[in-house]
Amino acid sequence: MKISIFSNEKKQSQKVAKELKYKLKEQQFIIDEKTPDVVITIGGDGTLLSAFHAYQDQLATVRFIGVHTGHLGFYTDWRDYDIDELVRSLKEETQKSVSYPLLDIEVVYSDGSDSELRLALNEASIKNIHHTMVANVYIKTELFECYRGDGLSVSTPTGSTAYSKSLGGAVLHPRVNAIQLNEIASINNRVYRSLGSPMIIAADEWITFDMKEQEEYRLTIDNYLVENPNIKQLRFCLSDKRIQFASYRHTHFWKRVRDAFI
Ligand code: NAP
Repeated sequence: MKISIFSNEKKQSQKVAKELKYKLKEQQFIIDEKTPDVVITIGGDGTLLSAFHAYQDQLATVRFIGVHTGHLGFYTDWRDYDIDELVRSLKEETQKSVSYPLLDIEVVYSDGSDSELRLALNEASIKNIHHTMVANVYIKTELFECYRGDGLSVSTPTGSTAYSKSLGGAVLHPRVNAIQLNEIASINNRVYRSLGSPMIIAADEWITFDMKEQEEYRLTIDNYLVENPNIKQLRFCLSDKRIQFASYRHTHFWKRVRDAFI
């Protein structure tokens, strides 16, 4: 089995990464950062997001394992003091995995740059950099509303415990194949009106934002900022791709939610 260790910069994570690498080599595992079978992240959910983007072209063949150096996370099933047990579990060589939905984002630019297809594990969020954001929101091909406010965010089920939750979104079990649209401080008065509630969009539906032109936008996808602010249109749908986690150990989703928030 080929394993890549992906750690954040924190001293404790670096220490655990070094120890884990030594133990894996001792057990004849191959350390391979380029084409691994398993990527072990050491840090937090943010580290797993970064690893996901680093290996997003290999999602069909890579399984992820998250080791948390702080409290347990949403993408991290193991704690830093569990690594002996983790190495033992890897020796069992079971291919069992659990997979979670991802979000496809098509970005169309207004400055003539080529459109881009991006993938998110948590969410994509857009805000106008200088002014109130104005966007026509379509569900499939129907105009649903003209949105005005700080911005909009579309999240995956696993992203529903991250930014989406802070925006008042529902927490979705990752077995629900759907995406969630959340408003960020919408303007609602007698003149301007948008729904004002989170919306859960079915797997065969898609969302389009037609952005007001000649404005600059801040589009973030998970922990990354899209550099070109000249955005004309965004399209979102549930991706055909999924992220796979090696399920040697699996914490029940609602237990994880209770432990994290209550
Ligand atoms: P970050 O500092 O890396 O992450 C912010 C916090 O979100 C961290 O505590 C992180 O946990 C946690 N987190 C990440 N994914 C999560 C998930 N799926 N469920 C529950 N908690 C999760 O911030 P960043 O680099 O700017 O962005 C990374 C992510 O953080 C974004 O995708 C966004 O969802 C979230 N975020 C949330 C808010 C908010 O709630 N107001 C604001 C900004 C960003 P760890 O400590 O384990 O890494």
